[in-house]
This record gives sequence, C-alpha cells and structure tokens, in this order.
Amino acid sequence: MKGISILGSTGSIGTQTLDVVSWHPERFHVVALAGGYNLPLLYEQIVKFQPKMVSVATKELAEQLRLQLGVKASDTRIVYGEEGLIETASADGADVTVTAIVGSAGLLPTLRAIEAGKTIALANKETLVSAGHLVTSAAARKGVTLVPVDSEHSAIFQCLNGEPPEAIAKLIITASGGSFRDRTRAELAHVTVEDALKHPNWSMGAKITIDSATMANKGLEVIEARWLYDIGYDRIEVLIHPQSIIHSLVEFHDGSVMAQLGVPDMRVPIQYSLTYPERLTNDAPKLNLAQAAALHFREADFDRYPMLRLAYDAGKASGTATTVYNAANEVAVARFMRGEIPFLQIESIVEDALSSHERIENPSLQEIMEADCWARKKAEL
Ligand code: NAD
Ligand code: MG
Repeated sequence: MKGISILGSTGSIGTQTLDVVSWHPERFHVVALAGGYNLPLLYEQIVKFQPKMVSVATKELAEQLRLQLGVKASDTRIVYGEEGLIETASADGADVTVTAIVGSAGLLPTLRAIEAGKTIALANKETLVSAGHLVTSAAARKGVTLVPVDSEHSAIFQCLNGEPPEAIAKLIITASGGSFRDRTRAELAHVTVEDALKHPNWSMGAKITIDSATMANKGLEVIEARWLYDIGYDRIEVLIHPQSIIHSLVEFHDGSVMAQLGVPDMRVPIQYSLTYPERLTNDAPKLNLAQAAALHFREADFDRYPMLRLAYDAGKASGTATTVYNAANEVAVARFMRGEIPFLQIESIVEDALSSHERIENPSLQEIMEADCWARKKAEL
C-alpha cells in the first residue's frame, strides 16, 4: 500500500489522481488532501477517501469544514493556509506527494515534501521553472525521485528508461498548439477568455489552458525538461503535433528516435507517476492507430509564439530570469481572465518584466521569492 498526499485535490490533476486511486484501492490509500476553496467537492473526497489530514485555503473554510464533517471524519485533522499546504505535502504516512496546485505557490510545499523524503509526482511545473536548481539539488541531496506527471515529460521519462544520459542527442517535446493553433496573429487581437478556454484535445484547469493558447505552457515545459533531464536548451526542441497522440520523443546519437504514444488522458501519466517502475492495467481508453489514421507535425514558429521564444531566452539567461518569466505570466494570465487586458498583452507584460529585471545568477530561496514578488508587482502595472 502506497500512501498518497495530493496538493490540489479538487483540480483537474487532483481529481484524476483520485480516479487512479479508485482504480487500485488495494495499492493506494489517501493520507492527505489539500483542496483550496472548493468545500463541496473536498467534503465528498474526505467522506470517500478518509484522509488523516486535509488542508483548505483559509481559517474560515477550515472552521466551516469542521462543522460540516462533524462525526463523519472525526479522525481527520483540518489545517489551512500556506502552513496547511506545507503540512499536507510532508504528511506522515505519505510515500508520494502529488503536486497538483497551480503556480509558484507550490515551491515551498514541494521543497518541504522533498526534505521529508517523499517521492514527488510532479505536476506543478511552475515550481521547477521558478526554482529548478533548488528543487533538483534538494531532491538529489535527499535521494528523492521527481517523477513527472506532465504528459510530455512522462513520455520522455519512459523513453529514457534504461538509457544512459550520454546517449541522448535531443528531446523533442510535442505541442498541440492550443485553442488558437489555426488562427493568425492578427486574429488573436480580439479573442475572448471563453475562446481561449476551449482546448481542442485536453480538459485542464483554466490557467494551463490559457498557457496552452499562448504557448507559455510549452515554454514552461521546455524549462521543466531542462531541469528534469539536466540537458541544455540547444538540445530541447518543440514540435507542433495537433493530435496529441505522440506525447514526446527522444532522439539518440545513433539516429534512433523513441516516442511514447497514447490517447490524450492524463490518468495514464498520473498512474505511471504513482506506480513507476511498475505498470498496472486500468480503465483508460486504448489507442487505435488505424482509427487515428494520420498524425501531423509542423515546426513551432517563434514569431507566431513569442512566449516560446521568451521561455528559451529566459532559460538560457538562467538564474532569476525563469522565476520572472513564470511569475509575470501567472499575473498576466489572471489579469486576462479577469477581463483587464487583451490576450496579446500577456506576452508584452512578460517581455517587459524580463527586460527590466536585474537577473541574479544562482539565486537563494530568499532571492527567488523576492524576484517572484518583484515580477508580480511589475506585471500588475
Ligand atoms: P486546476 O486549476 O484544475 O486545479 C488546481 C488545484 O489546486 C485546485 O484544487 C485548487 O483549489 C488548488 N490550488 C490552486 N492554487 C492553490 C494555492 N495557492 N493554495 C492551495 N491550493 C491551491 O489546475 P490543474 O489543471 O489541475 O493544474 C495543476 C498543475 O498541474 C499545474 O501546475 C499545471 O500546469 C499542471 N498540469 C496540469 C495538467 C492538466 O491536464 N490539467 C497537465 C499537465 C500539468
Ligand atoms: Mg504538458
């Protein structure tokens, strides 16, 4: 039995992680859940999975939940806020912590889970983008494995199974192109939040769906790959693949290319992150290539997708540049969703923040938090 703690249990990755747990009740038990603001769903999850600890966003919500649960879950400890999130991440009895909250808010809880020796099933890519050197060095020091949940990184992880790092020529990360893949840049000037939230292949949380439309998600994933696989940006490529059947590829020095394929269903990489190196059967739909008939590819154009170019630039600049790329993007996306700015201003906000930032090489945790804070303020202007 593996004990599981989930940060962000009421979100897209969180609920799908609980689906995987339900597929294999003999293998997994839920130890702790952090669910933010969604009390009705969290209540259902507590009654069903009986975790020992639950975290919510605020003290008021914690009190409300305590009243609602009454005797139904009298053994469940209810905590709240950032401290509650950290306690959930490092809860006793958890073998694996699934990081499925959004944004660099995941950084401190992830670091604390690593310190507590938990295996990290890593969905929260923003944490690696913000402070990749701190997270990967802490994991190496504690002998903790960072197992990717992101479908592209799970694909690469699977292609690299048993392969020595020196055999890798390059990583090829596939991208669906997001909700606006068939629109020109000129057509992007007046798109709405509703348009941006319609992803052609995946049903995901709002922030990552907007990130897919701007291609910032792929930019974040390039940086995520740099840290997970310790590889230079000149050996990470992005390839547009509208069907999302090939989840990513690795080219080796001998010219062989390995790919991982599957129906776009996050429960498959989530399950693998929890069972690695084992594979278990499940109820996910299976791939039928004859039915898929054709797979298409095209180059990712940096002029069409400036957020991708900015991610490579920030990655190559290194230090706090990627912290700023991420934090400015988080704020810009939130502002777009609030209707404050047009879609294309997301890019200019991130670009402005990067160009006026005084970069720090090899930043400490304190310096990362300051750079994150600075970029947020700048992006609000
Ligand atoms: P989501 O918005 O659907 O869910 C986020 C969850 O985290 C919710 O339970 C929310 O209450 C909680 N949460 C968010 N911010 C919080 C905070 N500051 N404190 C406490 N709780 C908080 O998001 P999602 O789509 O599930 O994405 C989660 C992470 O996984 C993101 O980093 C995303 O990039 C990554 N990811 C998601 C997918 C996907 O298919 N959804 C795929 C790959 C990677
Ligand atoms: Mg992905």
